[in-house]
Amino acid sequence: MKIINSTTRPINNVHYICMHIGGSPVTCYVINGRNGDLLIDTGFYFCCDRLRKWLGQFNIRHILLTHAHVDHDYNAAKLRKITGAQILLSENDVSLIGNYRSQPVKATMKKYRLRNIQQNVCGGMKLFSTRPYSPDIIIKNQDSGILRSLGYDADIIPLPGHTLGSLGVLADNVLYCGDAFTAIWGRPDITPHATSLKAMRRSLKRILKISPKWLATGHGLPVSMDKARPVIIKYLKERSRI
Ligand SMILES: [Zn+2]
Repeated sequence: MKIINSTTRPINNVHYICMHIGGSPVTCYVINGRNGDLLIDTGFYFCCDRLRKWLGQFNIRHILLTHAHVDHDYNAAKLRKITGAQILLSENDVSLIGNYRSQPVKATMKKYRLRNIQQNVCGGMKLFSTRPYSPDIIIKNQDSGILRSLGYDADIIPLPGHTLGSLGVLADNVLYCGDAFTAIWGRPDITPHATSLKAMRRSLKRILKISPKWLATGHGLPVSMDKARPVIIKYLKERSRI
């Protein structure tokens, strides 16, 4: 497993750990708050030990899941037990916990059709399912200010599409966007799968409108918006949505 973290390669002031397995990166982030720290996403099962070690330098009080896919929420309950942190998840992803097929995904481009079939097959397998857990704080669509009330200079940005409850966090000109956008292949790219293509396009437009300096995605290293913007515009234009 290859590990790159914010100490080995600083990017802006973003705290991240990017864990590669089989050439596929999974990335988790930490935002510092007034009363403790916020972990964004928890990675897949192979990430747990490395992630725990990295988290030793922080005081994790909250764990925000950008969505309830196994490669983001697998370690959430375990880390809650270790740290005592509270888990935050969108209300629209609660029924997705450990139940991938409750929100089947579609390919965002023709070239991902085969990969999409694999995703839906694997997603239904126990090996690729998170054990059920209950979030402590369920985020409703109107709860954008909840992180401020918990002591973070950050806002929740709903970014539905990849899943119905996908959300991002905007802090210090960085949009932690989960799988609403990706850098999984080492460059800014459109996420290959979405539960709702229409909602995903709307969320991409929202990202353009917010125009943060950095996009910190759930897979790969943070990418600058200057590099991501043309990729998003091209995708939306090809679908005549801009
Ligand atoms: Zn996902």
